[in-house]
Amino acid sequence: MTDTFVIVGGDAAGMAAASKARREDPDLEIVVFEKGEWVSYGACGLPYYVKGEIQSLESLVSVTPEEFREERDIDLRTGHEVVEIDPDARTVTAEGDGGEVVQPYDHLLLATGAEAVAPPIDGTELEGVYTLGSMSDGKELREYVARARDGESFQQADRGPACRYLEDCSGPVGVVGGGYIGLEMAEALAANGFEVHLFQRSDRVLTGFSEATSEAVADHLRERDVALSLGSEVLELAGSEASEASDGASSDRTQSDDAAEVEAVVTADDRVPVEMVLLGTGVRPRTGLAEDAGIELGPTGAIATDAYRETNRPDVYAAGDCAEATHVVTGEPTHVPLALTANRHGRAVGQTVTGTPVEGGGVAGTAAVKVFDVEAARTGILDHDEARAAGFEPVSETITAKSRAGYYPEGGEVTITLTADRDSGRVLGASLVSEYGEGAVHRSHAIVAALTEGTTVSELENYDLAYAPPFNTTWDPVLVAAKVLG
Ligand code: FAD
Repeated sequence: MTDTFVIVGGDAAGMAAASKARREDPDLEIVVFEKGEWVSYGACGLPYYVKGEIQSLESLVSVTPEEFREERDIDLRTGHEVVEIDPDARTVTAEGDGGEVVQPYDHLLLATGAEAVAPPIDGTELEGVYTLGSMSDGKELREYVARARDGESFQQADRGPACRYLEDCSGPVGVVGGGYIGLEMAEALAANGFEVHLFQRSDRVLTGFSEATSEAVADHLRERDVALSLGSEVLELAGSEASEASDGASSDRTQSDDAAEVEAVVTADDRVPVEMVLLGTGVRPRTGLAEDAGIELGPTGAIATDAYRETNRPDVYAAGDCAEATHVVTGEPTHVPLALTANRHGRAVGQTVTGTPVEGGGVAGTAAVKVFDVEAARTGILDHDEARAAGFEPVSETITAKSRAGYYPEGGEVTITLTADRDSGRVLGASLVSEYGEGAVHRSHAIVAALTEGTTVSELENYDLAYAPPFNTTWDPVLVAAKVLG
């Protein structure tokens, strides 16, 4: 009899596992439950869809449900939410339009992802307050932008500095959170002519990056007329009274007339009027199903697994944003909810369940972001307290160097903060920033390789990196950073 591999969650981790398992074993029965209608989608593209650079939500889908069903012979059940796991009976229970289904499994993968979290303040339930965690969130936000651009309020030109980019302008709007989703959305909204106010609790944006990167990005946001409120905790989102909302100027809005709408972001020392708010205040792993089934969480609050992504219950695996991974520098559990890890760990589980166990590998916390005309990347351990807690004695240097040969007609600068352990010289982490197209992100890859392999700064300095004038200087800025720190 063939085994049954059941997967909960039909995006990056889940569908990577299903596809790999199918390639490895043509006979395996593979059942995927996805509570939504979309599968195998690229949530990473949503800010660009909202911005208008990507025209259709469908283009964010890599493999359609029909292709999974017909070409890969995967029993994909969209519109089915798994509501219970019974690891003793080896079953999952799902609810869908056709009622309840009890599905037995031999191997189970939890690929339930993470969900956007709203801060614990009043007003997050008001109309006009959005998060961006799912395809339907992206659709709603794009519709908001389209409504605002077509609506009466958009005809009121010169309402804010961002208006100079467009003939007509709207806003103001608030973005709460200076992480990568907040910044990508600040760009998406400003590019559509909204006057954007960005509120960040800490005193810098992109807190997981170096201070030099944060400052460069903040300066650029200001240059692009995003009103930055740093060190500014949002205490409340204030709303209109229901009756006032129905009298409001946005007469063509489709929301219910008597719903209270957001009208201001309230901080300790300001009350900024807004017509809409985007909350980019982080994500939380979806672990409820696992917890109810007695599956252990790790110290980060995500599902704990071994190197093969197996949980404390035999044959129950967890991968992607719902699960922990091991940090390649510290060797400790970490939770880095990003797409490559989800794909890689899902794929590894897909192979493991077909009889050839494979580890998915560790994570370095490598991340990249584009904010208007600036790009930034980070990898490894940058925070000195975190490095000390892992037993290192961190030292850092920040350098700024030309991104291309000085005589080459184009070019700019790259700023790199490199961190290493004082005693061993081991590269621990880096943060890089440059103008968009000047190579901060691609340069980070050499440093990812170095810290993954346990390379020292002296060894990094001797890396034989490529050189030609259109790409860099003879001594690439990565080598310069290693030389200065070494
Ligand atoms: P998810 O993509 O969250 O998928 C989980 C799926 O499980 C969902 O479809 C959900 O509906 C389903 N599900 C949950 N519970 C159940 C249940 N009980 N029953 C059935 N189905 C269930 N990462 C990057 O690396 N780079 C980026 O630039 C980047 N940009 C991003 C931008 C945005 C706006 C967002 C939201 C995310 C971004 N990410 C980025 C993160 C990346 O999208 C995630 O890391 C990746 O999607 C995780 O894949 P996953 O399969 O683990 O989880």
